[in-house]
Amino acid sequence: MEIIGKGNANILIRFPNENDDKNDEYLYRFCIRPFQSLESYNSYTMTNHEFIKRELVPLLGEEYVCSLELVSLPICDDLKRILGPYCKSFITKNMIPASDSIMGLKVLNLKPSRLSMDILQEDHQLKVYVDATGDKIVLEVKPKWLYNPDTLGFCRNCVHNSFKKRENIKYCMASMVKARTHHQVNIMDLFHENTVKCLPEIFIDDLNNYFQNDDNVLKRLYYLQRNLSDKTVSIEKINSDDDVTTGLMILMILRDVTVFISWDKQDGDTDGNHISSHIIDLDLKPRSKWKHWQETERLLSKQSNNNNNNNCILHSNV
Ligand SMILES: [Zn+2]
Repeated sequence: MEIIGKGNANILIRFPNENDDKNDEYLYRFCIRPFQSLESYNSYTMTNHEFIKRELVPLLGEEYVCSLELVSLPICDDLKRILGPYCKSFITKNMIPASDSIMGLKVLNLKPSRLSMDILQEDHQLKVYVDATGDKIVLEVKPKWLYNPDTLGFCRNCVHNSFKKRENIKYCMASMVKARTHHQVNIMDLFHENTVKCLPEIFIDDLNNYFQNDDNVLKRLYYLQRNLSDKTVSIEKINSDDDVTTGLMILMILRDVTVFISWDKQDGDTDGNHISSHIIDLDLKPRSKWKHWQETERLLSKQSNNNNNNNCILHSNV
């Protein structure tokens, strides 16, 4: 048993399996936010699972959300070792009786096997994986704010990247969605020159078609963000946890998802489409996070004023 991925709120664990081929097919996802008891931990995990199924799967469409199975696992020594540092209040050496179980989510593994794939390019919003034959390519994308509300007055992604000094990001993810904009989507903006040299031409063509198409995963997210944004209170007007409505919660989740766009030369559908997409990281956020959202918005507004109108890398002179 080992941790193979860690975010701010979750870890992904790979379980050993007698059948080596199946090792990486499913992973187990556990929350690592602080909880005071096993009961509150399990209760959160159940609520989170129910929320994703009830609110997010119908909204995004089943084709974009991988199966998430709620599982209850006995807290064996291996799990104690792995989860103990994150669940100090209730997992200690002697506190958990062997009969107690902890809840997690069993998820399909979308990350390519570490053994067969190389990372061609990596930054905060994009990772490009390719296998040795070049027949399978996976983009791991953090699209963030694809829709920028008019009231914001700047490109949230570009200003945030500038604020965080992510100088290696030379593209604007919001520009990958051609909607209400005057420019063409240019997927070549996404890749470094050296990356392009390693990508087969047929992949570039397929990806280009995919992004020009009206129904791609980023467009789906863009329209959902736009609809919700028009209907929900803006972050600056929130005063308490109660002001964080379900709509705003969903909007903030959709601004923080991870998307896997997988191209497989061998696995095309009947229309010759070789691309499939999946959205992950759909977990509930604590309502108290509104303070953090507000503070970030305040800092980014300040940053945008300092940028002298270069509030999107597309309009930047640099
Ligand atoms: Zn931008």
